[in-house]
Amino acid sequence: MERAEVISRLRQADVQMVRFLYCDNGGVIRGKAAHVDGLEGRLNAGIGLTVAMQAMNSLDRLQSVDGMGPVGEVRLVPDGETFVVLPYAPRSAAMLADMLTLDGQPWDACPRSFLKRMITRMLGHGLQIKAAFEPEWSLAVRVEDRYLPFDETLCFSSIGMQTAATVIDEIVEALGKQGMPVEQYYPELGHGQQELSIRYTPALRAADNQILYRETVRGVAYKHGFFASFAPKPWPEQAGNGCHMHLSVWDPSGEENLFFDRSAPYQLSRLGRQFAAGLLEHLPGLLALTCPSYNSYHRLQPGSWSSAYTCYGPDNREAAVRIVSPYWGQEMPSINLELKAADNTANPYLALGAVIAAGLDGIIRGLEPGEERLVLQDPATLSDEERESRGIRRLPDSLAVAIAALEADQLLLDALGEPLIRSYLAVRRSEWDAYSTQGPAFEHKHHFWKY
Ligand code: GLU
Ligand code: MG
Repeated sequence: MERAEVISRLRQADVQMVRFLYCDNGGVIRGKAAHVDGLEGRLNAGIGLTVAMQAMNSLDRLQSVDGMGPVGEVRLVPDGETFVVLPYAPRSAAMLADMLTLDGQPWDACPRSFLKRMITRMLGHGLQIKAAFEPEWSLAVRVEDRYLPFDETLCFSSIGMQTAATVIDEIVEALGKQGMPVEQYYPELGHGQQELSIRYTPALRAADNQILYRETVRGVAYKHGFFASFAPKPWPEQAGNGCHMHLSVWDPSGEENLFFDRSAPYQLSRLGRQFAAGLLEHLPGLLALTCPSYNSYHRLQPGSWSSAYTCYGPDNREAAVRIVSPYWGQEMPSINLELKAADNTANPYLALGAVIAAGLDGIIRGLEPGEERLVLQDPATLSDEERESRGIRRLPDSLAVAIAALEADQLLLDALGEPLIRSYLAVRRSEWDAYSTQGPAFEHKHHFWKY
């Protein structure tokens, strides 16, 4: 959107403040807001941000990372295309921002710029990704220092639809007004758990949407006196909150979904299989970006429909990569791969950028996921020996294991590059250190209402 159009929409909507938002290495959405009076200049020049913020973990503890100390500054420069008036904070608007160096170049530690680099890399091969993040989340009330589910209704229950109706109606409207058309809604399995999905888009927009979505759900729920939690495992005894990533690869014009091949098994093309193979190949390390919090690994358990093994399968909800069966009459546009090993604590720019790097690696190397890892049942029901012989491995079972796998994955390290990867690893390692020495109460308190 041109600057003049942003200004005119601000005036019409009577906005006072515009939030310049970004997502940091800890997956936390942060930002600074500018008053409309000075906005015209800010749209170009941005707002200053200390370089140290990319070394800040999600407990607001600053990590020691070379070049990210008290000296130095970048600019948060908003992308005009992302301008939205916030329906839940009506005199405020928001824009997603890039981090630029003082000479106006993308900062090498900027997550949004990383995703743009990966999109360009893909375009260099005549390909583009479309994606949708599919968040699950829980509605809660706070009682003293604990959060509790706001209801105890059953999976897909119409009573659950009714208990959440006023909040959901307002969220659906707010998402629509911000250009995120809602596709489906249902109360999910866990107490208080909700799932509300939005339409897929080109990759950058999908990641921007995930930020605006989290903001909207939290913001509307809060207005109604509820706390919306995106924690992967908000309560140990309840179902976890996933944020499955739906992925497809298209031609650069965006007209043709290259994952579709009517004559192939499950209608998934060779290119689609190669992409799946790239994901499986890089999954252990990828997890440090798609399931990046301490709490993530309490969700990724066998038997939780969240995936726990490196395998793939048609509509297999226990496989890390599900081949999603296409809709009748919509086969070409609707066939996609669903990465189930992903949650809302991820920075969507880092997660999607890394997914692109992994999938493209599968395409470039012509990898095949193979019959052995194609699983048509719950992989947990295979014997250890069978999984071993078929190359089906347990996903990392803790953040520490996932971080070590990322440190060993040269393709992902090179894709992220310096200083992004150094700061990312420092932040995530520090979170592991902090949480692994504390108990469940600390984990609950610090994951519940942060994402
Ligand atoms: N809640 C499950 C998860 O953690 C997903 C359930 C489903 O939608 O299939 O991923
Ligand atoms: Mg679900």
